[in-house]
Parts: sequence; structure tokens; C-alpha cells
Amino acid sequence: MSPVTMIPPGSTIGMLGAGQLGRMTALAAARLGYKVHVFAPESMDSSCGQVVAYHTQAGWHDRLALARFADDVDVITLEWENVPTETVEFLSRHVGVHPGAPVLAVAQDRLAEKRFANSLGIGTAPFHAVDGVAALKEAMAAIGGRAILKSTRMGYDGRGQVRLAPDSDLVAAWESLGADMAVLEGFVDFTCEISVIVARSANGATAAYPVAENRHRDGILDTTTVPARVTAPVAAEATRIALLMAEKLEVVGLLAVEMFVTPDGRVLVNEMAPRPHNSGHWTMDFAETCQFEQLVRAVCGLPLGSTSARGACVMTNLIGADADHWADYLAEPGTHLHLYGKGEARPGRKMGHINRPA
Ligand code: AMP
Repeated sequence: MSPVTMIPPGSTIGMLGAGQLGRMTALAAARLGYKVHVFAPESMDSSCGQVVAYHTQAGWHDRLALARFADDVDVITLEWENVPTETVEFLSRHVGVHPGAPVLAVAQDRLAEKRFANSLGIGTAPFHAVDGVAALKEAMAAIGGRAILKSTRMGYDGRGQVRLAPDSDLVAAWESLGADMAVLEGFVDFTCEISVIVARSANGATAAYPVAENRHRDGILDTTTVPARVTAPVAAEATRIALLMAEKLEVVGLLAVEMFVTPDGRVLVNEMAPRPHNSGHWTMDFAETCQFEQLVRAVCGLPLGSTSARGACVMTNLIGADADHWADYLAEPGTHLHLYGKGEARPGRKMGHINRPA
């Protein structure tokens, strides 16, 4: 194990990205006595900007602003894995950035992610790289059934995806995707979707949260149930996979791995994110250490906290107008409400979540 510098409470943590994940990390950091300085192109009134001590609004390629930011903070983490790797490489010349650019390079690209998983002997849906209509036709023929076409970069919450059947119009599908590079995946008839969040600190210590079961609505996470209703061997395999990926990538911080469970009990990796994850929001009220505090502990070189669940629970996302019912949720005994301070409740926008006992 390499010697690790501890960043003590009272220090300033830099946060790249200004959404709700940054906001909840900043709140957890404040509880431990840290200050947070957020760097993002968004305005001061962003979900995260509202709760932090310092804020820099600048572009990802503004080197002057980046250098000033790096000078002002003791360590940097991120809440968005699509921060340009050049930005992270530049910042790392001044101060520690966790997770680092090599982790982001894999996590930003669906093809790299799947190839990385396969290189470790971990299964994925069958997939083919696709760079145009001709390649798409060949890939559809090779997969031989239903499939999903996904842009390799910048896809989230079901965006940048088209579902295809053998008789689909492939020219229209390729054009509607609007990407230069994509991956065609065979459709997995899964019994359930699960995820495992792993924390890893710079000294190599790891801690995995219990397996979470995820249901999606319109491509967006709807509920997370813990513990997942899977067999013990499936849970053990999912945990092994997430720990192995975090170790091989040498992640410092968090790694969330989303997986499919097949009817014959195989566990296939769908995607991963090296940051706090929506399927870990249950930890805020039902785990010994919440994922946001765990991220702070990991990047500051503090001992990792216990990942045990205090009880069975369900997290439900409040999407768009769902958040208008905040008063009803507050009136429910045992329900914990979290709102993200976002202005307009547009359809599909994550406005908050609730955690309830299961
Ligand atoms: P993703 O953006 O890759 O997480 O995909 C969003 C959701 O689409 C997943 O959570 C699944 O519910 C579904 N999905 C994605 N890929 C596949 C696949 N290969 N087979 C079946 N369902 C999928």
C-alpha cells in the first residue's frame, strides 16, 4: 500500500460539476467540517452552487480559471464523469484529482467500458462498434434479434438510445441517434437490474454497499430497493465484479456498476459511473455511512465507513411534477424527503427523491 496524504477536516474540496450529486456531496462534506469549492460552467444558483462555500463559473477549457481553482483547493473530486479528460489532466498537475483521467477515459465511452469488463472476464450484452449505416446493418445481422443502439459518449437516462427490431428502418435509426460512433447491443431479457457501489481510497482499502435492485421508467431510474431480491450467489458475483472493476481501474472515490441479472443467473455489466450514483441515494437514510460521506472519506484519505444497511428500504425518484407532492411525503411517517433546489420541474428532470422503509 502506498503512503497517502490525509486531507483533514477544515480543508477545501474542489468539486467538478454542479448538479444534485455535487450538492449532496457538499452537504456531507460540510457535516465533516470541509468546505467545498464547485467549478462548473453553470450559474451560482445551480443545485450544488446553492450550498457550497465557493463557486467558479467557467468553461472546462478555461486554463486560467482552472489554475486558480486548483490553487484554492486541497483535493478535487467530481460529480459528472464527462468532464473532459484534458481538464482533469491539467488540474492533476496542480493538485490530486480523484477519480483521475484514466478512469474517466473508460467511463466516458460505452465501448471502452464493455471492452474493459470483457478483458477482466466479466460478461456484457453482445455488442458491436458501429460507425455508420453499413456497420449497423452488419451488426444487426450478427446480433440476429432485438437490439439497442447507443451513442458511445454522453448518453444518460435513456438518452442517446434507439431500440431496434430485425425489421426496423436502420437508416432512420442511425440518423435519429445523431452520433459519429455508437455501440449496438443485443437486447438482454433480464429478470432484474441491479447495481453495486464500491468505495476505494488511495491506500487501496475498499468497501462495497449491499446490492441494490433498480426499476426504470421511460429510461430513467424510478425506484431502488435494498436489499435486491436476488440469490446469494448472484449478490456475491455482483459484488465481486464491482470490487474487481474498481481495483483494476485503481479508482479513488466511488464506482457504481449497473448490471443485468439473466434468467439463468448470470450477471452482465451494463455500465459504470465513477461517482456517487442515483441508485445509492437510499444510503442517505438507511446506511451506516451515506455514499456522499463515503466519497469524501475516500478522496480525503480518511478511513472508509461501514456500508451496512440499517434496514430494508425503497428510494423513489421525484421526476418533474412528482416533486409538487412534497407536503404529502413530509406527512408520511418514516419517509425522508430530499429536494435538489432546482427551479423548474420539467418533465424527465430529477427534482428530488424519497427514502422509505420497505
Ligand atoms: P443505459 O443508459 O445503458 O443504462 O440504459 C438505460 C436502460 O435501458 C437500462 O437501465 C435498461 O433498463 C435498458 N437497457 C439498456 N441496455 C439494454 C440491453 N442491452 N438490454 C435490455 N435493456 C437494456
